[in-house]
Amino acid sequence: MTLRVIIAGAGLGGLTLAHGLRRAGMEAAVYERDPAPDSRAQGARFHIDDRGKHALHACLPPAHAELFEATLGHDSRALKVIGDVNGRLELLATNSFDGEDGRPDAVRPGHPVSRQLLRRILLNGMEDHVRFGREFVRFEYLGQGVRAYFADGGHADGDLLVGADGIGSAVRRQLLPHAEVIDTGARWLGGKTPITVEITGTGIIDLIGSSFTITELDDLGMILAAMQFKEPPLSAAARLLPGLEPGEATDFLMWALIPPNDRLGAGFQTLGTTRLWERARELVEPAHPTLRLVVEQAWPEQTLCLPLGASMPVEPWQPSAVTLLGDAIHAMPPNRGSGANTALQDAGRLCRYLVDERPLLDAVATYEEEMRRDGFEAVNASVSAMGEFLLRG
Ligand SMILES: Cc1cc2nc3c(=O)[nH]c(=O)nc-3n(C[C@H](O)[C@H](O)[C@H](O)COP(=O)(O)OP(=O)(O)OC[C@H]3O[C@@H](n4cnc5c(N)ncnc54)[C@H](O)[C@@H]3O)c2cc1C
Repeated sequence: MTLRVIIAGAGLGGLTLAHGLRRAGMEAAVYERDPAPDSRAQGARFHIDDRGKHALHACLPPAHAELFEATLGHDSRALKVIGDVNGRLELLATNSFDGEDGRPDAVRPGHPVSRQLLRRILLNGMEDHVRFGREFVRFEYLGQGVRAYFADGGHADGDLLVGADGIGSAVRRQLLPHAEVIDTGARWLGGKTPITVEITGTGIIDLIGSSFTITELDDLGMILAAMQFKEPPLSAAARLLPGLEPGEATDFLMWALIPPNDRLGAGFQTLGTTRLWERARELVEPAHPTLRLVVEQAWPEQTLCLPLGASMPVEPWQPSAVTLLGDAIHAMPPNRGSGANTALQDAGRLCRYLVDERPLLDAVATYEEEMRRDGFEAVNASVSAMGEFLLRG
């Protein structure tokens, strides 16, 4: 009998799992709360390492995986620290990413990947299997399998429900009501700036290369990281997945400010993108002119502000027809570059165990044991090193 899997959440983890299951001949239907694929900014870029790449290669059709590889940025092997030295931005330190051997407390070398482009690659070919505007609200176990209910009053039945619904997971709230997500108190106020001739002319791109870079401004940290596509997305998409509209055509700089909550003022979460961008411009007012220029020349509508949360470890629970992956169970601050990588790793693993012909609950139990071990190890490493964003680690 074909396994029917209901996935709540069309984020990185949920979509990767859906691809893997469908390629193996299983039924996977994804239910996403957002009304449409582009109804909100997806963020700028993230650092993908061997964990995320391995899962994408295992789950995606070959042309999708090839497009993902072709449009990565250049090698990212170190964290750079830069600072204003007598009016010039200079390199102060280079800390290599030495997590090749899998040490959980070290960042693994990898590449920058564009979030918007990766999401479009993941959605390509899944048009009939991803339902937008369907917010999961609760589940009910059936004699065999599970029923998921949605905010629009509809429901879907399956053999397994996977909560891939991110840090505020409604699936987790019902499955593990005692699981806690804490607010680290830090915020990510960030955006994207096209790499124009004017930006290149400041020397900032030569200075940072493809490294994740931090600098200090008064009491907040600033992050910079370039996304320079190895192959332009338009030509790579035309070559490998004709019909895919990559959205992203230009190299860009991701920037973010990490202010403590009280620096943003009340109600920051309800501010629109342009107001957030203006707030970022105010915060960089005292900074070096190049850093001010980067924020000034950003695409205002791509600005976003997120609270940085972390999941508290959860004791093992009884495996059932409902499970969780990614941020829904082990959310973490982004400083160790592990959140997306562990979400993708979960998707790849769960897919592999479900495709193996073992009883469903055995597959879920094996998956959950490994997911808890690696996911919470990554949460611990990220929370312990939180200070590095603020250069106080
Ligand atoms: C600023 C920032 C920078 C980061 N940088 C990195 C990095 O460099 N490297 C790295 O590895 N990680 C990074 N991360 C972490 C990474 O983005 C997340 O860990 C990753 O996106 C988690 O994937 P996911 O699929 O679990 O959840 P998400 O990508 O959050 O997807 C969840 C999906 O579920 C949907 N949803 C929510 N509720 C419901 C509901 N009730 N019903 C239906 N759908 C619902 C959401 O709309 C969303 O589409 C960063 C995170 C942030 C905030």
